[in-house]
Amino acid sequence: MDLYTRSILNDVINLRQVNWINKRIDNFDEIKDNFDIKYEDIIDAKNRLDRFAPLIKKMFPETNDGIIESPLVKTDTLKYNLEEQHKRKIKGELFLKCDNYLKVAGSIKARGGIYEVLKHAEEIAIEKGLLNINDNYSKLSNKEFKKLFSQYKIAVGSTGNLGLSIGIISAALGFNVDVHMSRDAKEWKKKLLRKKGANVIEYKEDYNKAVKEGRRQCDLNENCYFIDDENSLDLFLGYSVAAIRLKDQLDQEKVFIDEDNPLYVYLPCGVGGAPGGIAFGLKHVFGDNVKCYFVEPTHSPCMLMGILTEKYDKVNVNDFNIDNITEADGLAVASPSKLVSHMAKYLVNGIYTIEDFQLFKYLTLLKLSEDIKVEPSAASSILGPAFLDFNKKGVHISWLTGGLFLPDDIYEKMYSKGKELI
Ligand SMILES: *Cc1c(COP(=O)(O)O)cnc(C)c1O
Repeated sequence: MDLYTRSILNDVINLRQVNWINKRIDNFDEIKDNFDIKYEDIIDAKNRLDRFAPLIKKMFPETNDGIIESPLVKTDTLKYNLEEQHKRKIKGELFLKCDNYLKVAGSIKARGGIYEVLKHAEEIAIEKGLLNINDNYSKLSNKEFKKLFSQYKIAVGSTGNLGLSIGIISAALGFNVDVHMSRDAKEWKKKLLRKKGANVIEYKEDYNKAVKEGRRQCDLNENCYFIDDENSLDLFLGYSVAAIRLKDQLDQEKVFIDEDNPLYVYLPCGVGGAPGGIAFGLKHVFGDNVKCYFVEPTHSPCMLMGILTEKYDKVNVNDFNIDNITEADGLAVASPSKLVSHMAKYLVNGIYTIEDFQLFKYLTLLKLSEDIKVEPSAASSILGPAFLDFNKKGVHISWLTGGLFLPDDIYEKMYSKGKELI
């Protein structure tokens, strides 16, 4: 382990906020052929989501056109307020990618989670000879399909938001669905899921344990399909589609990314699927002109530790006496995804960590600046533009990953906590 890595690791173990820069990241064009999945797979995922649009539109009219996508918002006020807070100028423009407003699931999990369930449903329906990819998929909401899917079960382990996304879409299609919730899962998320018709199984242990037990139970039932957040390529590809859509949104804003106008993207990271999939897509679309940074809580720095120690998914933050307890429930993960941690070292330009109290500060700053409501996990991405590459030209995007369904009384308390810190 070199000196730089050792000193960062030491700070991470001592729960200090760090800013790790990946010095070994290669030219993306040269390494992309080493991945098992390619650009065509992202396009395939995008096309699948397009096929499902008529169905989503019918089941969830709030999506308007059946494409679950979020706005990209330019923010000068937040940028100004960040500059005031940090007493420095941010040279580039600042945008917010508002996945906190993603319909159906209320978080970034609407991308990967819903995609994988739809793909599974498509496979079953095609195999039974009831669906052809040229059909209008809105027919999948008919009784005969509900009856078909009710013979199958879908299961997932979650800290909350993935469970919400899988639970809501699975139940809507007619599947039985078991959601194994870790101790971090908020009460309101469990309640909402039960209301939507999912089975919620609660654990006193952490996320990795909920996944393990969920996987074990599912394996005993041959009609059960386990959505494996620690290893799933489909989840990953569902997330990656965001990159293609983001490119369109930037084009519409007349923002063009090149060597002279690079893109900096800040992505909250739990097990790694969402930020990993999006970074994978972004690198395919923008090459080395996009710099992807992940952010983790100081108490759950699993991806950073996995990469620094080169132990990847074998790392557990508890082994370093880090407790994995954080208000950023979406990021409360002790071991990173096996699939993503191995890829991330080629995708991520850096990882920073953030203390919990800062999350409330940025949650409140965002509300005051732009009247946007996020959950604490999402607020972590706001720090990035203020302390990474702030003095370089280009375009910053803080990815706001969740918050739509957060009950107002709970949100108010968080907001007040942040208000005292500003
Ligand atoms: C799950 C989640 C993330 C991170 O996604 P991973 O795939 O776990 O890395 C970030 N923000 C929110 C709000 C989440 O729910």
